[in-house]
Amino acid sequence: MKKNKQQLIEEDLKYIWHPFTQMKRYEGDEKPIIIKKGKGIYIEDIDGNKYIDAVSSWWVNTLGHSNKRLNKALYKQAKTIEHVIFAGFTHEPAIKLAKSLIEMCNNDLKHVFFSDNGSTAVEVALKMAYQYWAQSGHPEKKKFVALKNSYHGDTIGAVSVGGVDLYHKVYKPLLFDIIQAPSPYCYRCPFGCEKETCQLACLKAVEDIFEKEHQNIAGIIIEPLVQAAGGMIMYKKEYMTELRKLCDKYNVLFIDDEVAMGFYRTGKLFAYEHANIVPDIICVAKGITAGYMPLSATLTTDKIYNAFYDVDEDGLKTFYHGHSYTGNPLAISIACENLKILKEMNIEEYLKPKIQKFSKELEKFKKHKNVGDVRQCGMICAIELVKNKATKEPFSYSDEIGKKIYKEGLKLGAILRPMHNCMYFLTPYIITEKEIEKLLNIAWKALNKVLPNE
Ligand SMILES: *Cc1c(COP(=O)(O)O)cnc(C)c1O
Repeated sequence: MKKNKQQLIEEDLKYIWHPFTQMKRYEGDEKPIIIKKGKGIYIEDIDGNKYIDAVSSWWVNTLGHSNKRLNKALYKQAKTIEHVIFAGFTHEPAIKLAKSLIEMCNNDLKHVFFSDNGSTAVEVALKMAYQYWAQSGHPEKKKFVALKNSYHGDTIGAVSVGGVDLYHKVYKPLLFDIIQAPSPYCYRCPFGCEKETCQLACLKAVEDIFEKEHQNIAGIIIEPLVQAAGGMIMYKKEYMTELRKLCDKYNVLFIDDEVAMGFYRTGKLFAYEHANIVPDIICVAKGITAGYMPLSATLTTDKIYNAFYDVDEDGLKTFYHGHSYTGNPLAISIACENLKILKEMNIEEYLKPKIQKFSKELEKFKKHKNVGDVRQCGMICAIELVKNKATKEPFSYSDEIGKKIYKEGLKLGAILRPMHNCMYFLTPYIITEKEIEKLLNIAWKALNKVLPNE
């Protein structure tokens, strides 16, 4: 017999511990919404309510829900081989995907190491960088530099290089030591600069760190162009261009965490392309399977790969890292089909009018009395809400502004899950211009319901 909604919710709360969720609140008036299906940019609950998936189901979905071609690719692969050990064995889909990735990034990077989520792609990058120096005659280069407000995942290594107190502070005693550099947060510049006249004082701070400690620094890890989970903080591409020069000058590895930005989220395949640079290591995940299956990869250069390429007597130069599901054929087949579809769509051109449409529709938000900053980078838009526009005084956590807007959004048919005091839109790429209008109208209504603009 089919369970009714009430029963399902009770059993959910009884048996499941949800991510990033205060379960006690969940039991109160924030009950989970039971999703039955999805199609395109919409997901539908068991009561038949439809919601625009404005967060791409946690930033992963790019081609919409239940894409026919991706469904078919998954089914086709399931009938041949669903999974196989990836040490000592390989398979054609993996070879094809690795080759496509390298070709798509114009050989900027040369070798692909697969894992199964963004956090592990970051762990792999950190271990690779560390071991690279250990076996390249610089075992003293052990430390990592990471930025305030950064987010690189939830496993312990990734949390160590994280910089969002709300998520990371409690684990501090467990984490390895890093050197934290300031956040390139233009709207709230830690150096008091203005966007228009900014001379990248935040980068100067990185240079000071490098200058003083480069002998001990293995690498710096950044989120390219957007510190996403830290509050959709966006910064200039010149920061990355100049950072590349500093890394070269001081012999520090440049680790570029493209987990959220990769696969055209910023309008280009990888965000580093905007800055005309090549990182030493990049991490990719989220969009790689268009939101279908967990899969990630860490890509690197010959320089790093070659430091591991050696049959030494004690086997110590091997990279001892892997996961049960490394190179999973189901996930990889979907990624292959995804890349094929993106290519056929001529995705860079396809996204341009949508990016412009977002930009146009965002204009009216700038005039709202509680909108401090409106930011956009490709297919990501963020609106930072403030208590006081003139002083930039933020809302406090207990104001629950984001949560209130989220609730209004649900009533109106859109998932406006907030990021701190930011409303943001990070939709599947297939959203139409009409649907962009609809989404931003919903957002406008929800915002004005909670914070009337009089
Ligand atoms: C989401 C995210 C991660 C972590 O990826 P998971 O798949 O959630 O482990 C790492 N880095 C960045 C920049 C992210 O946005």
